Amino acid sequence: MKYVFVTGGVISSLGKGLTAAALGTLLENRGLKVTLQKFDPYLNVDPGTMSPYQHGEVYVLDDGAETDLDLGHYERFTRTKLTRFNNLTSGQVYQTVLDKERRGDYLGKTVQVIPHITDEIQNRIHQIVEQSKADVLITEIGGTTGDIEGLPFLEAIREFALDVGPGNAVFIHMTYVPYIKAAGELKTKPTQQSVAKLREIGITPQILVCRCEYALSKELRQKISLFCNVRYDAVIEEKDVDHSIYEVPLMLQRERLDDLVCQFLHLDTPAANMTHWQEIIRKLVAPQHRVRIGVVGKYIELNDAYKSVYEAIIHGGVANDCGVEIEKVDAEEIEKSGADKVLKGLGGILVPGGFGERGVEGKIMAVQYAREKRIPYLGLCLGMQIATIEFARNVLNMKGAHSTEFAPATPFPVIALLDDQREVANKGGTMRLGAQPCQLRVGSKAAQLYGAFVINERHRHRYEFNNAYREQFEAAGFLLSGTSPDGKLVELIELKDHPFFLASQFHPEFLSKPNAPHPLFRGFIAACHTAIHHRPL
Ligand code: GLN
Repeated sequence: MKYVFVTGGVISSLGKGLTAAALGTLLENRGLKVTLQKFDPYLNVDPGTMSPYQHGEVYVLDDGAETDLDLGHYERFTRTKLTRFNNLTSGQVYQTVLDKERRGDYLGKTVQVIPHITDEIQNRIHQIVEQSKADVLITEIGGTTGDIEGLPFLEAIREFALDVGPGNAVFIHMTYVPYIKAAGELKTKPTQQSVAKLREIGITPQILVCRCEYALSKELRQKISLFCNVRYDAVIEEKDVDHSIYEVPLMLQRERLDDLVCQFLHLDTPAANMTHWQEIIRKLVAPQHRVRIGVVGKYIELNDAYKSVYEAIIHGGVANDCGVEIEKVDAEEIEKSGADKVLKGLGGILVPGGFGERGVEGKIMAVQYAREKRIPYLGLCLGMQIATIEFARNVLNMKGAHSTEFAPATPFPVIALLDDQREVANKGGTMRLGAQPCQLRVGSKAAQLYGAFVINERHRHRYEFNNAYREQFEAAGFLLSGTSPDGKLVELIELKDHPFFLASQFHPEFLSKPNAPHPLFRGFIAACHTAIHHRPL
């Protein structure tokens, strides 16, 4: 087993997760089995309880773990299957150590950050090694070098690398080389200082990946090499990409990042074959068709809040050789200005998952607009619940129909809590989470798209379609096209007399990849670009 550690310096949001994932793509395409792991220095046990404003999207794994969104990049860019062990937070580390202390496992010793916390961090690396049987483990350390919270993680990987010895571990440090407009120059000082900070801790990075807006000149690379004590050819430029994040692996391959990593780790493999990846990029850069899709949410000003949704839409575009322009629509704007004003001309409408009442009425208006104007609609989780509420109110004439999440006293609780959720008091990790099987109805659009009758999809919700209303909905053409295998939970709905109106209680966006677009997104985009409603771009 070989180890790659990715740290970050200067500023956050450098795209460490993307870079780690892109390196994973390259190593996989050299024939290596790769897995990835993220360390997060915050004290929350997992990001499940954090607001999207704090953290962006919560990414859900098959086993129900609520994790950092970088794990989404890992799964989209590689074949690796991740579990709850692939995301470790300080909160988890401390929880484990304190549980052990209470059990008396430390036999009277003083429990300390070094070695007890750091050992626990290293245990997690060993755990992944045993489980994954990969050739290479890429571990990304969240946060920025110099943060107090990150120190135990850095100390742990320093010790770990020492243990496995040179040739088995490599440190990649990501930094930022800012362009100062007034001087007309790229500046290397922040990079120098952040590398110095790492070396203070005892870590000497062998490779520097430099995020920059402009190309690094030869002189600049020489300077960084000299002052940071890295080989000249190990100063890697990672410029902002022109079109898509899926260009990053190709860009890093041109900079020979994967060659270098293999050299440092004594891995003798052929060069990465990226032909299929280049074809994806071709479809992204020069697609045959174009369409504009509206995503109606309440965190639309935040790019990270619906990360997997946006990516899955783009994958659906790739599957149809169709460029997708995503219009981020604020649900509250629809409430203020009306659906027609905000949504007119869109090729398709999507309502993603969400919690809390703000913007709900705007989302209901968006669904009504899509249903009545026969615009393709895809609803995800809350988007399925909204579709149910809209149909109840406007087709079945159930005035005031709602979800009990938003209106506990509604006369028509078409979306409600299941009994086992009513007892739940704790917020963390207590929703219906992770992969669950779903049975599709013969003859449904869903079954046609999936080409299967039993599927497995990831969940993250508490509320459900209320079974008391099943017959009324079905009689009016609201098809319950997917249920849990025991038939008790509604998982997928679709409208019979509509070009494309489909919504799922699960989150299909977590299982879509650029080279394996999800069937629901493929079908949605196909319906959007063949529909006639949208204005040409
Ligand atoms: N708030 C809804 C529920 O808990 C939907 C959740 C979601 O969209 N992820 O059921």
